[in-house]
Amino acid sequence: MGGGSNILFDDKGFRGLIIKIEASNVEFNGEEVTAECGVTIAKFLKESIEHGLSGIEEWTSLPGTIGGAVRGNAGCNGLETKDILVKAEILDPESGKITIVSTKDLKYGYRESILKKSNQIVLKAVFKLKKREISPEEQQKLLDKYRETRLTKQPFNLSGGSFFKNPSKENPAGMLIEKAGLKGKTIGKAQVSEKHANFLINLGGATSEDIKQLANLIKKEVKDKFNIELKEEVQILAIK
Ligand SMILES: Cc1cc2nc3c(=O)[nH]c(=O)nc-3n(C[C@H](O)[C@H](O)[C@H](O)COP(=O)(O)OP(=O)(O)OC[C@H]3O[C@@H](n4cnc5c(N)ncnc54)[C@H](O)[C@@H]3O)c2cc1C
Repeated sequence: MGGGSNILFDDKGFRGLIIKIEASNVEFNGEEVTAECGVTIAKFLKESIEHGLSGIEEWTSLPGTIGGAVRGNAGCNGLETKDILVKAEILDPESGKITIVSTKDLKYGYRESILKKSNQIVLKAVFKLKKREISPEEQQKLLDKYRETRLTKQPFNLSGGSFFKNPSKENPAGMLIEKAGLKGKTIGKAQVSEKHANFLINLGGATSEDIKQLANLIKKEVKDKFNIELKEEVQILAIK
């Protein structure tokens, strides 16, 4: 796991060893930035800005690590990982072999990549940013704007972020859930956020069972009302 911001663990625990990757070195070479997989997006953003770079402001307040982002093509405000990634170093845990793959090789789509269908591990990634052409003050204004957008649109409560993928631009998951009348719906200590219906929030002490039951109810209601199948964006780890 990276930052754990997109994982729902089972209440029963996990049978196995969990490795939290913390490799956190970032190196700069002109507009190219090489970051180890445990680098948080917050650190990546902060250090890139300190090095006079730009083209990543959209990621202000995006949780998680470089590893999680490269695997899931994380992004927000119109900037996805694939837009700035040049290549990544990947470890095959079975053979121990390390390979360098290009962005194209990773077959990116919306919150999708070839890595999601394998157990390969991202070790580090190289990104291409841009030299800042605006003033530091203008850049700060941009950062503030994106931070503000997130603060006004998303709940502060504990959550895994957007629970479901958006089925399409016209039918974002949050809108479908809201139209199904499920805003505020609560099971146990899990609730459909009143602020953004695609956020299933933990009111304090929610079990993964509460979250899963709420998610299943949402899927059923949205399917019944709109004939659309919602697919989880959050990774659910079920004990085998
Ligand atoms: C409040 C909130 C808001 C969010 N907003 C957004 C948003 O706007 N846009 C967006 O895209 N996401 C959003 N997310 C989801 C989350 O930020 C992203 O999915 C992020 O990329 C996950 O990174 P992570 O390091 O936390 O991954 P984790 O949650 O730790 O792991 C997610 C998956 O990636 C795998 N993984 C982690 N590191 C590696 C690695 N090095 N190599 C291979 N696999 C790895 C894990 O095994 C797991 O399967 C949000 C989450 C929260 C809590």
